[in-house]
Amino acid sequence: MPDNRDYYEILGVSRDADGDEVKKAYRKLALKFHPDRNPGDREAEESFKEAAEAYEVLRDREKRKIYDLYGHEGLKGTGFRGFGGFEDIFSAFGDIFEDFFGFGGGRSRGARIRRGNDLRYDLELTLKDAYRGKEEEIVFDKWESCDICRGSGITPGSEPSICPNCNGRGEIVHSHGFFQIRTNCSTCNGTGQVIVDPCRRCAGKGRIKAERKVMVKIPPGVDTGTQLRVRGEGEIGENGGPPGDLFVVIYVKEHDFFVRDGDDLKCQITVSFVQSALGAEVYIPAIDDDKERRITISEGTQPGEIIRLKGEGMPSLRRGRRYGDLFVQVMVKIPTRLSQRQQELIMEFSELEKQKIGAKTRDLWDKIRRG
Ligand SMILES: [Zn+2]
Ligand SMILES: [Zn+2]
Repeated sequence: MPDNRDYYEILGVSRDADGDEVKKAYRKLALKFHPDRNPGDREAEESFKEAAEAYEVLRDREKRKIYDLYGHEGLKGTGFRGFGGFEDIFSAFGDIFEDFFGFGGGRSRGARIRRGNDLRYDLELTLKDAYRGKEEEIVFDKWESCDICRGSGITPGSEPSICPNCNGRGEIVHSHGFFQIRTNCSTCNGTGQVIVDPCRRCAGKGRIKAERKVMVKIPPGVDTGTQLRVRGEGEIGENGGPPGDLFVVIYVKEHDFFVRDGDDLKCQITVSFVQSALGAEVYIPAIDDDKERRITISEGTQPGEIIRLKGEGMPSLRRGRRYGDLFVQVMVKIPTRLSQRQQELIMEFSELEKQKIGAKTRDLWDKIRRG
């Protein structure tokens, strides 16, 4: 698949197109390239998939935002991989095809196949976790196939009976002159069967809420708002539909010492006026471990001066693991309570300064006089 075509270009909409325009544009393309209308046409097939992928991103506020900011690369960071095949597409956008063709997916009659819902899990991390990346086990409740009836909703050993409304066909046929309109039977939901003895564990629903544990790999460089997609870990689908996905939404806590600015880190240190004048070695916390990092203050450092340490910021999700920079701002503390001796020394220092300034001024006058 042409991997990097612009999604807006594929759908032929402007970058500020709203949800309705995006949907309309997609419908038009989906109808044009639908596999039922273009049997065996490889090109139409590719266009159909491409349009579905563009639609999936642009209809979703979060994904669209990531795409607008970081493009295709950014989506890869969230684990987004587009669609595997037609079934994926039909199960994701069944509703749209239903409008066109009158039945789910434009192909399956029988029971209505639905993809399971996506789930969202908010995960809080420290800045150090975000720097290093980590594996985290997350625990949450979700609907899963009932283990007693294996999703059928029927007490094991008992048999479902044939739906009396549709006589087991799963659909009802209405005739309007030449036309026949088929709709899913509402009594049996298109399955053609009704349950007489529902499973007690799941009350005939075929699914139960269960605790689920998933290991999630968090790459270095994630930031607040980063979404990691875990395929297939959402709710189970209905009637054999594929499961939804799990979206892990990252929140990075504030750090006591560092402030994050994109991939860069910022911090402030305070030194004495003697250290700023003579130069010094000071220590700050290190972001990646529990050790400290040495910072060299060069002599004559001015209050507010910023020391830039290249490559010592956060790892970048977008720029292939390159690192941002660390900016250390040096604040200078002026002493408030001086001893007698300290005062004398500063007075002495002040005298020397006056002489130095005097000498400079004399030099300047000499120069002017000499022309
Ligand atoms: Zn059950
Ligand atoms: Zn029926």
